[in-house]
Amino acid sequence: MKLIFASANKNKIKEIKALLPEHFNLLGLEDIGIYEEIPEPGTTIKENSFLKAKYVLDFLKQANEDCAVFSDDSGLEVDVLNNAPGVYSARYAGASKNDANNNKKLLEDLKLITNRKARFVTVITLIINGEVHYFEGEIKGTISFEGRGTNGFGYDPLFIPQGYRSTFAELGAEVKNSISHRALAIKQLINFLAPQNF
Ligand code: IMP
Repeated sequence: MKLIFASANKNKIKEIKALLPEHFNLLGLEDIGIYEEIPEPGTTIKENSFLKAKYVLDFLKQANEDCAVFSDDSGLEVDVLNNAPGVYSARYAGASKNDANNNKKLLEDLKLITNRKARFVTVITLIINGEVHYFEGEIKGTISFEGRGTNGFGYDPLFIPQGYRSTFAELGAEVKNSISHRALAIKQLINFLAPQNF
Protein backbone atom coordinates (compact mmCIF):
# COMPACT_ATOMS: atom_id res chain seq x y z
CA MET A 1 0.00 0.00 0.00
CA LYS A 2 1.25 3.45 -0.89
CA LEU A 3 1.41 6.20 1.74
CA ILE A 4 0.60 9.60 0.29
CA PHE A 5 1.02 12.93 2.02
CA ALA A 6 -1.51 15.35 0.51
CA SER A 7 0.79 18.34 0.42
CA ALA A 8 2.84 20.21 -2.15
CA ASN A 9 4.61 22.25 0.54
CA LYS A 10 8.26 21.18 0.25
CA ASN A 11 9.05 22.44 3.77
CA LYS A 12 6.33 20.29 5.28
CA ILE A 13 7.27 17.21 3.24
CA LYS A 14 10.86 17.64 4.43
CA GLU A 15 9.75 18.08 8.06
CA ILE A 16 7.54 15.00 7.95
CA LYS A 17 10.09 12.82 6.15
CA ALA A 18 12.58 13.69 8.89
CA LEU A 19 10.08 12.50 11.50
CA LEU A 20 9.02 9.25 9.80
CA PRO A 21 11.01 6.03 10.22
CA GLU A 22 13.28 5.46 7.22
CA HIS A 23 11.41 2.43 5.87
CA PHE A 24 8.31 4.53 5.19
CA ASN A 25 8.12 5.34 1.50
CA LEU A 26 6.32 8.64 1.63
CA LEU A 27 5.00 10.17 -1.59
CA GLY A 28 4.00 13.80 -2.07
CA LEU A 29 1.42 15.26 -4.45
CA GLU A 30 3.83 15.75 -7.33
CA ASP A 31 4.92 12.10 -7.06
CA ILE A 32 1.37 11.01 -7.86
CA GLY A 33 0.74 13.60 -10.57
CA ILE A 34 -1.26 16.26 -8.74
CA TYR A 35 0.18 19.62 -9.66
CA GLU A 36 -2.80 21.89 -9.03
CA GLU A 37 -3.44 23.54 -5.70
CA ILE A 38 -6.01 21.62 -3.65
CA PRO A 39 -8.95 23.88 -2.76
CA GLU A 40 -9.38 24.70 0.94
CA PRO A 41 -13.00 25.93 1.17
CA GLY A 42 -13.57 24.83 4.79
CA THR A 43 -14.20 27.16 7.69
CA THR A 44 -12.15 25.20 10.23
CA ILE A 45 -8.68 23.71 10.17
CA LYS A 46 -10.14 20.23 10.75
CA GLU A 47 -12.54 20.58 7.84
CA ASN A 48 -9.81 21.68 5.43
CA SER A 49 -7.57 18.88 6.65
CA PHE A 50 -10.30 16.34 5.82
CA LEU A 51 -11.14 17.94 2.45
CA LYS A 52 -7.50 17.77 1.32
CA ALA A 53 -7.17 14.06 2.11
CA LYS A 54 -10.53 13.31 0.48
CA TYR A 55 -9.55 15.22 -2.67
CA VAL A 56 -6.45 13.08 -3.11
CA LEU A 57 -8.29 9.86 -2.37
CA ASP A 58 -10.94 10.69 -4.98
CA PHE A 59 -8.16 11.43 -7.48
CA LEU A 60 -6.49 8.09 -6.74
CA LYS A 61 -9.72 6.10 -6.90
CA GLN A 62 -9.88 6.80 -10.61
CA ALA A 63 -6.51 5.08 -10.91
CA ASN A 64 -7.75 2.17 -8.77
CA GLU A 65 -4.72 2.40 -6.49
CA ASP A 66 -4.58 0.91 -3.00
CA CYS A 67 -3.42 3.85 -0.92
CA ALA A 68 -3.49 5.44 2.48
CA VAL A 69 -3.64 9.22 2.36
CA PHE A 70 -2.97 11.74 5.06
CA SER A 71 -3.12 15.50 5.00
CA ASP A 72 -2.09 18.18 7.41
CA ASP A 73 -3.76 21.49 7.91
CA SER A 74 -2.32 23.95 10.35
CA GLY A 75 -2.77 27.47 11.52
CA LEU A 76 -1.77 30.08 14.02
CA GLU A 77 -4.36 31.14 16.61
CA VAL A 78 -3.79 34.40 18.48
CA ASP A 79 -5.75 34.95 21.72
CA VAL A 80 -6.50 38.67 21.38
CA LEU A 81 -7.49 38.25 17.74
CA ASN A 82 -10.25 35.76 18.64
CA ASN A 83 -8.05 32.94 17.34
CA ALA A 84 -7.34 34.63 13.98
CA PRO A 85 -5.67 34.09 11.60
CA GLY A 86 -6.57 30.42 12.27
CA VAL A 87 -7.93 28.67 9.20
CA TYR A 88 -6.97 31.75 7.15
CA SER A 89 -3.30 31.74 8.27
CA ALA A 90 -1.89 31.35 4.76
CA ARG A 91 -4.11 34.10 3.34
CA TYR A 92 -4.06 36.52 6.28
CA ALA A 93 -2.73 39.44 4.24
CA GLY A 94 -4.46 38.46 1.00
CA ALA A 95 -4.95 35.72 -1.55
CA SER A 96 -1.31 35.79 -2.68
CA LYS A 97 -0.33 33.74 0.43
CA ASN A 98 2.78 35.79 1.08
CA ASP A 99 4.63 34.92 4.33
CA ALA A 100 6.37 38.30 4.63
CA ASN A 101 3.10 40.19 4.18
CA ASN A 102 1.30 37.91 6.64
CA ASN A 103 3.98 38.51 9.26
CA LYS A 104 3.89 42.24 8.65
CA LYS A 105 0.12 42.32 9.08
CA LEU A 106 0.25 40.29 12.27
CA LEU A 107 2.84 42.62 13.81
CA GLU A 108 0.71 45.57 12.78
CA ASP A 109 -2.45 44.05 14.30
CA LEU A 110 -0.63 43.40 17.58
CA LYS A 111 1.09 46.76 17.74
CA LEU A 112 0.95 48.10 21.34
CA ILE A 113 -0.83 44.92 22.51
CA THR A 114 0.89 43.26 25.43
CA ASN A 115 -1.09 39.99 25.52
CA ARG A 116 0.76 38.13 22.77
CA LYS A 117 -0.37 34.60 23.61
CA ALA A 118 -0.84 32.33 20.62
CA ARG A 119 -0.71 28.71 19.57
CA PHE A 120 0.02 26.72 16.47
CA VAL A 121 -2.40 23.88 15.80
CA THR A 122 -2.27 21.00 13.35
CA VAL A 123 -4.95 18.53 12.41
CA ILE A 124 -3.84 15.48 10.45
CA THR A 125 -6.50 13.45 8.68
CA LEU A 126 -5.60 9.89 7.72
CA ILE A 127 -7.91 7.95 5.46
CA ILE A 128 -7.00 4.29 5.42
CA ASN A 129 -9.08 1.23 4.50
CA GLY A 130 -12.13 3.44 4.18
CA GLU A 131 -11.79 4.81 7.73
CA VAL A 132 -11.07 8.40 8.75
CA HIS A 133 -8.74 9.12 11.67
CA TYR A 134 -7.74 12.49 13.11
CA PHE A 135 -4.51 13.37 14.96
CA GLU A 136 -4.18 16.78 16.56
CA GLY A 137 -1.15 18.68 17.84
CA GLU A 138 -0.79 22.05 19.53
CA ILE A 139 2.08 24.19 20.78
CA LYS A 140 1.55 27.26 22.93
CA GLY A 141 3.73 30.35 22.73
CA THR A 142 3.82 34.09 22.18
CA ILE A 143 4.22 36.44 19.22
CA SER A 144 7.48 38.42 19.23
CA PHE A 145 7.60 42.18 18.65
CA GLU A 146 9.70 41.82 15.50
CA GLY A 147 10.71 39.07 13.07
CA ARG A 148 13.79 37.10 14.19
CA GLY A 149 15.66 34.23 12.53
CA THR A 150 15.94 32.79 9.04
CA ASN A 151 14.92 29.11 9.36
CA GLY A 152 11.54 27.59 8.65
CA PHE A 153 8.57 29.22 6.94
CA GLY A 154 5.31 31.06 7.56
CA TYR A 155 5.07 32.65 10.99
CA ASP A 156 8.24 30.94 12.30
CA PRO A 157 10.13 34.27 12.65
CA LEU A 158 7.37 35.57 14.98
CA PHE A 159 6.52 32.53 17.11
CA ILE A 160 8.31 31.99 20.43
CA PRO A 161 7.36 28.58 21.84
CA GLN A 162 6.57 28.40 25.55
CA GLY A 163 9.71 27.78 27.61
CA TYR A 164 12.04 29.38 25.02
CA ARG A 165 13.25 32.93 24.33
CA SER A 166 13.97 32.38 20.63
CA THR A 167 11.55 32.17 17.73
CA PHE A 168 11.03 28.96 15.74
CA ALA A 169 13.05 30.59 12.93
CA GLU A 170 15.98 31.13 15.33
CA LEU A 171 15.71 27.71 16.97
CA GLY A 172 16.01 25.87 13.65
CA ALA A 173 14.60 22.64 12.26
CA GLU A 174 15.97 20.19 14.81
CA VAL A 175 14.45 21.92 17.84
CA LYS A 176 11.25 22.81 16.00
CA ASN A 177 10.77 19.22 14.82
CA SER A 178 11.08 17.96 18.38
CA ILE A 179 8.34 20.19 19.84
CA SER A 180 6.14 21.57 17.09
CA HIS A 181 2.38 21.21 16.63
CA ARG A 182 3.04 19.22 13.47
CA ALA A 183 5.59 16.97 15.19
CA LEU A 184 3.10 16.18 17.98
CA ALA A 185 0.39 15.27 15.49
CA ILE A 186 2.81 13.31 13.32
CA LYS A 187 4.06 11.30 16.31
CA GLN A 188 0.49 10.12 16.92
CA LEU A 189 0.13 9.29 13.24
CA ILE A 190 3.38 7.32 13.30
CA ASN A 191 2.32 5.34 16.38
CA PHE A 192 -0.87 4.47 14.57
CA LEU A 193 0.88 3.50 11.33
CA ALA A 194 3.91 1.76 12.87
CA PRO A 195 2.48 -1.77 12.79
CA GLN A 196 1.65 -1.37 9.07
CA ASN A 197 3.96 -1.88 6.12
CA PHE A 198 4.50 0.91 3.61
P1 IMP B 1 -1.39 24.94 5.91
O1 IMP B 1 -2.75 25.24 5.38
O2 IMP B 1 -1.35 23.78 6.83
O3 IMP B 1 -0.38 24.88 4.84
O4 IMP B 1 -0.93 26.13 6.85
C1 IMP B 1 -1.48 27.41 6.69
C2 IMP B 1 -0.52 28.49 7.08
O5 IMP B 1 -0.27 28.41 8.50
C3 IMP B 1 0.86 28.44 6.44
O6 IMP B 1 0.87 29.06 5.19
C4 IMP B 1 1.68 29.23 7.43
O7 IMP B 1 1.48 30.61 7.23
C5 IMP B 1 1.04 28.84 8.76
N1 IMP B 1 1.79 27.72 9.37
C6 IMP B 1 1.41 26.43 9.46
N2 IMP B 1 2.35 25.71 10.08
C7 IMP B 1 3.36 26.55 10.34
C8 IMP B 1 4.65 26.38 10.95
O8 IMP B 1 5.08 25.29 11.36
N3 IMP B 1 5.40 27.49 11.05
C9 IMP B 1 5.00 28.71 10.61
N4 IMP B 1 3.83 28.92 10.02
C10 IMP B 1 3.00 27.85 9.90
